[in-house]
Amino acid sequence: MKAGSPIADSLHASLAQLQQLAAGNAPDLVTRRGWLDGLARMVREHQAEWIAAVNADFGCRSAVETRLAELFPALEGITLARRKLRGWMRPQRRGTSFWFWPARAEVRPLPLGVAGVMVPWNYPIFLALGPLTSALAAGNRVMLKMSELSPHTGALLEKLCRRYLGDDVVRVVNGGIDVAAVFASLPFDHLLFTGSTRVGRVVMQAAAANLTPVTLELGGKCPLLLAPGFDMRRAVGSIVAGKLLNAGQTCVAPDYVLLHERDRDAFVAALRQQVLRAYPQPAGNPDYTAIINPAHYQRLLAWRDEAAELGARVEAICDDDPAAMAAAGKLPLTLIEGAPPQATVMHEEIFGPLLPIVSYREYGEALAYINARPRPLALYLFDADRRRVQQTLQQVRCGGVTVNDTLLHVVQDQLPFGGIGPSGMGHYHGYEGFLTFSKLLPVLHQSRLAGAVLTQPPHGRTVQRLLQ
Ligand code: NAD
Repeated sequence: MKAGSPIADSLHASLAQLQQLAAGNAPDLVTRRGWLDGLARMVREHQAEWIAAVNADFGCRSAVETRLAELFPALEGITLARRKLRGWMRPQRRGTSFWFWPARAEVRPLPLGVAGVMVPWNYPIFLALGPLTSALAAGNRVMLKMSELSPHTGALLEKLCRRYLGDDVVRVVNGGIDVAAVFASLPFDHLLFTGSTRVGRVVMQAAAANLTPVTLELGGKCPLLLAPGFDMRRAVGSIVAGKLLNAGQTCVAPDYVLLHERDRDAFVAALRQQVLRAYPQPAGNPDYTAIINPAHYQRLLAWRDEAAELGARVEAICDDDPAAMAAAGKLPLTLIEGAPPQATVMHEEIFGPLLPIVSYREYGEALAYINARPRPLALYLFDADRRRVQQTLQQVRCGGVTVNDTLLHVVQDQLPFGGIGPSGMGHYHGYEGFLTFSKLLPVLHQSRLAGAVLTQPPHGRTVQRLLQ
């Protein structure tokens, strides 16, 4: 879509209006708390509508998952920001160097102005409201682009943001990739993009033309590493929960499992039992989420079949009729073993319920396997040996870690969240989210007593001697 098209013109006009509103005084604590309260009420007072909207986008999205992985963490983030905001906004005193004493230094966090936020379809509520919480807490106005694959949730967010926050504070934009491309090229004061690494590159390039700083929350293959001999019954509950939440369509889902070759049989047996217990009869089971659309469904089938053709052993764990599963747009957890490196499942982010298993003989081999690949967004370590955990944390670079469970570091609002390298740059959530959307203004207050003797000419001999 070219600049000058009606949509491009309307996006530019929206941004200009918000920029004008943002130009005055930085919003005070009461105003920002009011915004956060609006966000919280918007979530609390419309839970059934949120659940229905995401369900319509997916065909079938577990209501429990929408509560657990979208509404609950969104509200937790808003609550924490509201509670901590006074402290976050307070100017911080800093020391001054001896030579400039008694001048006084401080850092004042100020809003950047207007932030852009781009949202993927997989958790359309949480991944819209999380960045919105950070940006509003920091006192910014926000324009937010929803994914074309979650139009029902997008329409609901647009309606509710208008009602609870107003067009003067937040504008929600819905539309296709053409609209997204124009959106990414707007001269925001900051742009937070959540989505694939491929599109992240395109978005960063568009932002670079405006020197708009970006936070990129991207994807990748998150390894799950089981230490030799780890208690499988303890591990599989977390693994199934992490892999099958949203049917694997989660950026931080374990992508593949690394385990000791001796543990393979025990793992597969325990996993099979847990999957069948957690999701009986998944075709008609409302707790088991569908694949977002036929294109992604076909992509996953193609990757599975390619792995089988290349010699991998493929096993679906499912007690339901395959035809009923297909009719419901659902895919069962499917183990893939012995796939060669060139199989797509072994080098592309899976984003679905396919689970490659990679066996190792020595623990070091497993670390080498991870470190030979692009830096992941998340790493899961299952290990009872605390010393080895400490060592591993020193040896692997990744976005974040949960030890002896899956996913949970993401919903700790006191922890920053973000990737590294191809899995992203920058952080948000909690205080780090507030900082991401703030300008840290350094201010030095010169003292009436001292004057900047050191720097003012003519430079006498004392100064010259000092500088030698
Ligand atoms: P995507 O990259 O296809 O789309 C994300 C957003 O980019 C959408 O809003 C879309 O409209 C927009 N977009 C698409 N093409 C564009 C273009 N050419 N120019 C500008 N904008 C464009 O991602 P997706 O399929 O919606 O989501 C899945 C991906 O997101 C996975 O890779 C997953 O790992 C990642 N993800 C990351 C996080 C995280 O927090 N790190 C969270 C969720 C999803």
